[in-house]
Amino acid sequence: MELNFDNSFAKELKDFYEFTKADRSTSPKLIKFNESLAKELGPEWEKLKSDYGLLIFSGNDSPKGSQPLSQAYSGHQFGGFSPLLGDGRALLLGEVIDKDNIRRDIQLKGSGRTIFSRGGDGKSSLGPVLREYLISEAMHSLNIPTTRALAAVSSGDDVIREKVLPGGILTRVASSHIRVGTFQYASTTGDIEKIRVLSDYSINRHYKNILQKKEKYIEFFEAVCESQLNLIAKWMGIGFIHGVMNTDNMTISGETIDYGPCAFMDRYDPNIFFSSIDTQGRYAYSNQPLILSWNLARFAETLIPLIDKNEQNSIDILTQKISSIRDKYEKAWLKVMSEKIGITKIQDGDLDLINELLDIMKNERADFTLVFRYLADFIIGKENLLINLFDNSKKINKWIINWKNRIEKEGKFDKSLCTKMKKINPLYIPRNHLVEYALDEALSKENYKPFYNLLSFVTNPYDEVFNSEEYTLPAPITDKPYKTFCGT
Ligand code: AMP
Ligand code: MG
Repeated sequence: MELNFDNSFAKELKDFYEFTKADRSTSPKLIKFNESLAKELGPEWEKLKSDYGLLIFSGNDSPKGSQPLSQAYSGHQFGGFSPLLGDGRALLLGEVIDKDNIRRDIQLKGSGRTIFSRGGDGKSSLGPVLREYLISEAMHSLNIPTTRALAAVSSGDDVIREKVLPGGILTRVASSHIRVGTFQYASTTGDIEKIRVLSDYSINRHYKNILQKKEKYIEFFEAVCESQLNLIAKWMGIGFIHGVMNTDNMTISGETIDYGPCAFMDRYDPNIFFSSIDTQGRYAYSNQPLILSWNLARFAETLIPLIDKNEQNSIDILTQKISSIRDKYEKAWLKVMSEKIGITKIQDGDLDLINELLDIMKNERADFTLVFRYLADFIIGKENLLINLFDNSKKINKWIINWKNRIEKEGKFDKSLCTKMKKINPLYIPRNHLVEYALDEALSKENYKPFYNLLSFVTNPYDEVFNSEEYTLPAPITDKPYKTFCGT
C-alpha cells in the first residue's frame, strides 16, 4: 500500500538530519489506534488499524514513500547549553498533506538508536508512550495546540531502566518538529546561510502570510512569539505544567511537544511543579511565562544575522521585540482567564477580579479545574458544588457577589452563560492519580481498560457523564507529594 508521503524536510534541509533505520520490534501489539486522527490524514491512513499498520507503527517496515530520518538540534536544558542533542530515540518517517491541505510530520518515538543517541538506547518504555498518548489527546480536546498521537504499540522487547520495563513506540503527528533548538543548531554552525534556509523553510511551512513581507525575519520572530505566548496562556488557563520547557522542547509552530514529566495541577498552587529532575522548580507553573520570554530570547539570538547587516541594529530591534512579550502575554492570559469566568469584553477591574479569585483559591488550595467548572454550575442554582470546594465560604461568597455584578454589566447571569462557560471549562482532565492508575494497570496486569476509559473521558472533557465522580475529583491529600519522571 502506498501512503501519501511528501517529504519536504528531507529535500530542503539536508544539513539538519541523518537518515536512520528503526530497530525491529520482536512481537509488537497495537494498543491504541487513533481513528479520527487517521481520517484527517487521508483514506489510506484509516486502513492502518491492521497487520500492515502494526508493521509500520512498530518500525518493522518502512512504508513506501517514507524517508526515515533523525533530526539534529541543540538545546538549553535547565539553562545549560548542549550544542548537539537531536532525535536520540525518534525517527521522522516523513510528511503527509492532510485532508485540510496541512503538512504534518509522522514520527516514531522509541524506535531505536540513532546517531544522536549518545549513551541512550533509543528506546521508550510503554508507560511514557501511553502517558503521552493520553495527555496529548486530552490537550487536543481542550483546544490547546499540540502534537497528536496516532498509535501506541508495545514492542515485545524489554527496556532496561532502574528496572526491566516493557518497550513501546508512539507514532506522533505534528505540524512540524522544528524547535527553537533547531535554530540554535543552525546558529552553532556559524553559517548564516543555514539559518536563512531554516528560517525560510519554517516561514513557508508555518507562517506563509509573511512570505512576501519586506522585513520577513522580524515578522517571523514576532509570529513565533505570538504563537508561543498564546500557547503558554492556554496552558495557564487549564493548570498545565509542561515540566521541561527546554529550548529543544519549544516548537516554532507553537504546538505543545514532548510530554515527559508534565502534569495538571489539582489544588491551586502557583509554585507547584512535579518533575523529579527539576530540583529548583525552574519550570514551576508560575514560572512558565518567564521561561517563555527566556526561551524566545535564545531564539532571537539565532536570528541576529538575518535581521540587519549591522549587528547592533539587529540586537536593538530584537531586544525591543523581546521586551514586548510580557505585555502581550499578559493580555493573552487576561483574555483566557476572563473567558473562563464568563466575561467576553474585558473592562477595567477584570484583572483584579480574576486575581482576587486566584488568591482565594490559593489560600484555600481549591481545585483549579473544578472551581471554574462549578462557577458555571453556580449560575444554574447548583451553588454547593462550588462552595464545598472552600473550607471558608466567606471570601468566595463575597467574590461571587462582585462577579455576578460584573457579569450583569455585560449580559445575563443565566443558563446560556452557564452553557457557554461549560464549553470552556473542562470537567475531566488527566488527573495525576488517574493517569498513574491507568498506566499501572496497563503495565502490571496488561489491563488496558482503565487507560481506554480515562482516554474516553479526557477526550470529551466538557460533556458531563452521569455518575462519573471518580473521574472528576482531585486525588486525596497525602504526605507524599506527587512526582513525575521524564520517562525515556
Ligand atoms: P526529551 O527529554 O525527550 O526532551 O529528550 C532530551 C534529549 O535526550 C533528546 O535529544 C532525546 O532524543 C534524548 N533522549 C531521551 N531519551 C533517550 C533514549 N532513551 N535514548 C537516546 N536518546 C534519548
Ligand atoms: Mg525533547
